[in-house]
Amino acid sequence: MSYSLLSDANQRLEKALRYVSLSDDVTERLRYPKASLSVSIPVRMDDGSLRVFQGYRVRYDDSRGPTKGGVRFHPHVTLDEVQSLAFWMTFKCAVLNLPFGGAKGGITLNPKELSKFELERLSRGYVDAIADFIGPDIDIPAPDVYTNPMIMGWMMDQYSIIQRKIIPAVVTGKPISMGGSLGRETATAMGAFFVIQTAMTHFSQSPAQTTVAIQGFGNAGAVLAELMFRAGYQVVAVSDSQGGVYAKQGLDIPSIRRLKDSSRGIRAVYCEGSVCSTVEHASITNEELLELDVDILIPAALENQITAENADKIRARYVFEVANGPTNSAADAILEAKGIHVFPDILVNAGGVTVSYYEWVQNRSGFYWSLDEVNRRLEQSMTAETEKIWAIAQELSVSLRTAAYVHALNRLGDAIQAKGTQDYYVS
Ligand code: GLU
Repeated sequence: MSYSLLSDANQRLEKALRYVSLSDDVTERLRYPKASLSVSIPVRMDDGSLRVFQGYRVRYDDSRGPTKGGVRFHPHVTLDEVQSLAFWMTFKCAVLNLPFGGAKGGITLNPKELSKFELERLSRGYVDAIADFIGPDIDIPAPDVYTNPMIMGWMMDQYSIIQRKIIPAVVTGKPISMGGSLGRETATAMGAFFVIQTAMTHFSQSPAQTTVAIQGFGNAGAVLAELMFRAGYQVVAVSDSQGGVYAKQGLDIPSIRRLKDSSRGIRAVYCEGSVCSTVEHASITNEELLELDVDILIPAALENQITAENADKIRARYVFEVANGPTNSAADAILEAKGIHVFPDILVNAGGVTVSYYEWVQNRSGFYWSLDEVNRRLEQSMTAETEKIWAIAQELSVSLRTAAYVHALNRLGDAIQAKGTQDYYVS
C-alpha cells in the first residue's frame, strides 16, 4: 500500500486515545473527514491559452464550530495531503480552545510560474468553485504555504461579489485595509516564540547558551529567526528551499533577512553580502541542517522532513515544529527513544490560526484591536496551553505530542458527546 499522510496522522490519534476515556462515537467520528471537495479551475493565461488547475477544500470536523484552515499553492498538493492538513487543523483549533473545527485547501501548481494577473484569476476562480462550501459560519480559509494577504484579499472580494454584499469574515489573513488584523502576518512566528520561551523555563536554559537551527526562511521561519536573534539566542543555521548557511558563532539574522528580500536566496545573499566577510560561514544542505549538533531544531518548511531514514541522526535536544507535520509517526518513536523533546505542530504553529480567530471576531463585531491587544492575548493563550500540555505530559508520562492530542481530544470529545452518544440512547 502506498504511504498515506492521513493514515500516518491518524496514528497520533490512535495513540492518544489510550489515555482518554471517551465514547467510541468520538473515535469513529474523528477517523474520517466530514467532506472533501475536488474542483477544476479553468484559468485564461496571459498568452490567451487556457489552463485547468486542480484544487481541493476539505472540512475535517465541525463539532466545535465552523471549520478553519489555510489554502496552499504548491506543486505537491494532493487530496491526501489536504485531508491530513485539515485533520491537524481540527486538533490545533481544539488545543488553543478556538471555537472552530478544522479544514484545509490547496491548488496543485508552482505559483512562481504564474504572473500576478494569472494568480488573481486563479484565486478568484478557486472561490467561484468552492463558494457553496465556505462562509463565515461554515468554513473560513486563510493563508498557508505560498499564499499571502493579497491572495486572501482577492478571495474575500470574490466571495463578496458572489454574495452581493461585503463579507470580510469569510477569509482571514487579509490586507489590513480590507479588514485584516494587526499582528496576523507575524502571528505564527510570535506564537512559536511564546511556546519556546515557556518551554525553556522548564529546562532552565538561557537564550545565550542556546544554539538554534531553522529549516525554512518563509513568513514563519524568517520572523521567528529574528525574534530569537533579538532575544539573545545563537541562531547558527538557517535555510530556504535552495539550501542554507551555518556559522558556529551565530548568524546576523537581520542582515540575512534584508539581503534575502533584495536577492535570490540565503546562500547567495549571505556569501555575496557584506556579512560574509565578517562571519566565518559554511554552506549546508537542508538535510545537513536537520542533523546539526544544536540545542534547538526548528523545522519551519514542509511536512515529512524527519522520518525513519534520518531520525536517528538528529542531534538537537529540543525540536519545535513550526511547519505542519514535519515529523512522521515512525520518526516520533525514534526521537522519543533518544530523549529528544518534540514540541508538536498543533501547539507550536497555532499562533497563526489564533490571530485568524481574532480577525474573524473583529470582522464580526466591526471593532478593531491594537497590535498590543492582539499580541497580549496571543501570549496569554499560547503560554497557558503550553503549560497545560506540559502538565499532561508529566502526569501521564507521555510525549508532548501525545499530551497535545490528549488535550485536544478531551475538548473535541466533550463537543461530540454533548450531541448524544450510544450510552445516551441505549441504557
Ligand atoms: N495555515 C495556517 C495553519 O496551518 C493558518 C490557518 C488559519 O489561519 O486559518 O495553521
